[in-house]
Amino acid sequence: MKASSFRPEDLRNIVLLGHGGAGKTTLVEAMLLKTGAITRLGSVETESTTSDHEPEAKAHHHSTSSSILFTTHEGAEINIIDTPGHPEFVGSALAVLPAVETALVVVNASTGVEFNTRRLFHAAGEAGLARMVVVNKLDLAPPRLPNLLAELSASLGSRLLPINLPTAGLHDVVDCFEQETGAVAFGSVKDAHRALVEAVVEVDDAELEKYLSGEKLTADALRSTFVRAMKLGHVVPVLFTSAKTGAGIADLLHVVVKDAPSPVSGRTRRLSKNGELVELACDERAPLLAHVFKVTADPHLGQVAMLRILQGALGPTTPFIAASDQKARKAGHLMKIEGRDHPELETVAFAGDIVALGRTEELHVDQVLHAPEVKDTWVMPASKYPTPMLSLAVSNKSKADDVKVGQALARLAEEDPTFSYTHDPVTHELVLSGLGDVHLKVMLERLQNRSRVAVVSKAPTIPYRETIGTIAEGHYRHRKQTGGAGQFAEVFLRVEPLPRGAGFEFKSEVFGGSIPGQFIPSVEKGVHDALERGVLAGFPVFDVRVVVTDGKTHSVDSKDIAFRTAAKWAVRDALPRARPALLEPVVNLEVTAPEEYMGAVTGEMKGIRGRILGMEALPGGLSVVRALAPLAELRDFAGTLRGVTGGHGTFTVELAQYEPVPQHTHNKLVDARAAHRVLDDAP
Ligand code: GDP
Repeated sequence: MKASSFRPEDLRNIVLLGHGGAGKTTLVEAMLLKTGAITRLGSVETESTTSDHEPEAKAHHHSTSSSILFTTHEGAEINIIDTPGHPEFVGSALAVLPAVETALVVVNASTGVEFNTRRLFHAAGEAGLARMVVVNKLDLAPPRLPNLLAELSASLGSRLLPINLPTAGLHDVVDCFEQETGAVAFGSVKDAHRALVEAVVEVDDAELEKYLSGEKLTADALRSTFVRAMKLGHVVPVLFTSAKTGAGIADLLHVVVKDAPSPVSGRTRRLSKNGELVELACDERAPLLAHVFKVTADPHLGQVAMLRILQGALGPTTPFIAASDQKARKAGHLMKIEGRDHPELETVAFAGDIVALGRTEELHVDQVLHAPEVKDTWVMPASKYPTPMLSLAVSNKSKADDVKVGQALARLAEEDPTFSYTHDPVTHELVLSGLGDVHLKVMLERLQNRSRVAVVSKAPTIPYRETIGTIAEGHYRHRKQTGGAGQFAEVFLRVEPLPRGAGFEFKSEVFGGSIPGQFIPSVEKGVHDALERGVLAGFPVFDVRVVVTDGKTHSVDSKDIAFRTAAKWAVRDALPRARPALLEPVVNLEVTAPEEYMGAVTGEMKGIRGRILGMEALPGGLSVVRALAPLAELRDFAGTLRGVTGGHGTFTVELAQYEPVPQHTHNKLVDARAAHRVLDDAP
């Protein structure tokens, strides 16, 4: 199939967000069916949807990464991004927000708002997206339906107003925007229309005045003011659908085309240009700028990079430069994205569009591609993601497979911003980190599928830290005479504790050139060397300021390496007197389980030194409990939770803070270190 391209004002880019099971994937199918992009409704049960095409998504029966599709309707092209709803895959949902203007937050009519939905709703608001709420599964006729709007407004904390209401049989919807009467299952079209008008005029003084003086708004004025109110987050329209029966799908599509902002009228985009934030207009005549927001692996096309064109136009032969290198290249394979298929685009794609490039091994997520004539440096502001804190140490049997595993891991980390891996230099473990046990399980499956290497996993060593409790001074005089040239440097310094989370600071208070300026960077390097391994148990030292105060130099024998060595040992001299302490990572632990297991769950949380922060009942008989807990105690938590909830509990873990370890842990760690003491004496 050949895809054609649309002008910026005729594009609509939308993302579907919401808790798993709300019906996002099925809703995408229904939209594709209604617009004729497909001829048969695929189903999640038979693994035949256009959007869930990854083997891991099929195996787990829910999406594990975002999926992009497009269709055309009423003269517009709609790019649709379906995202995973499971909280552990929230990274894939957050990562695509820069590509779109509008978020459809999908809610299951029978269960109401679930907690991940609330988080995504707010994330979309913070990203400046226009938001609409889609209440799906209308056909299930849940008894809570009439009260759902009030429930949604309360839990999402926004002004939610229906712009359509279901008919009595729930087979269709009545528009409340243009219509003022109609027979509906609950509420009234008249009231809904009035509520909309009253809320909408609040964002426009002229229209408000007219309204208050009894004048009726024209349909056009109402529509344009509504779009503005939605963009400001002043009102959030609610629509009803059934992805199964197709009820409300036509109206949803109509509203998306008519009212969802285009790339031209949507949120203001800010990018850093040569280090300064500037606003970018979606101008198709400007030189090309495109943002790589996602990369995936394709069996035939190699690495595929998904781009949002920010300005200008991109055709198969348009030259561009990736920000990090200066080599101009051409797209070659310029494609649209249709789940696993990539129809070739033979014309140009304009600003605002979402397209893919094949065979792009060298492109990375968050790169900004630009036209060769653009000489400025453009950088996309970094998005915020939860820090992955649940880890597994993995190893492969044969050393020969190291390269394959390494390459697959690099790809996976690029594809998912909440997945990371490190090679621990102290423990020599390859440590994978994710947001929860399902997330890690899926990543492990992907690692084996992609690399075709079998790996084994075990709990990793905990990333403890060291810090100091008070100010202390240190000194070291380094002198070495080996045959010809000698080494000489002397450093005096002070270590000072910083507030928790502050990290590291380096300062020089050296006066009168007692350490010549050119050696100060070497002193800082030496300080870093020392802080890599603390004096208590060999963990890295954080939350300290090191101030170099004085020193001595020798006109011939002073060199960089001498100052680096002297600074390192001066720090090691100071640390033992600075009340060194061990810190452990403490995480925000969030457990979701059916209500009846909550007693057992909170019991287990207390058993692992958890401090319960709060509990909340969720719709659908689920509860969520949040606690702070030391990461070290979570080693067996996945198994424990499965045990006490009969497999119905899930949890997420995010780094909260570092805190001092209890005395017995302190002793254990110091003893373990003493047992494998590497000789750490000064040269
Ligand atoms: P997602 O996790 O939000 O993508 O939700 P899915 O599209 O995977 O749907 C979850 C389940 O709900 C599947 O079993 C769907 O068949 C079902 N489902 C989706 N939409 C509807 C609907 O409108 N009505 C009914 N009865 N079931 C639906």
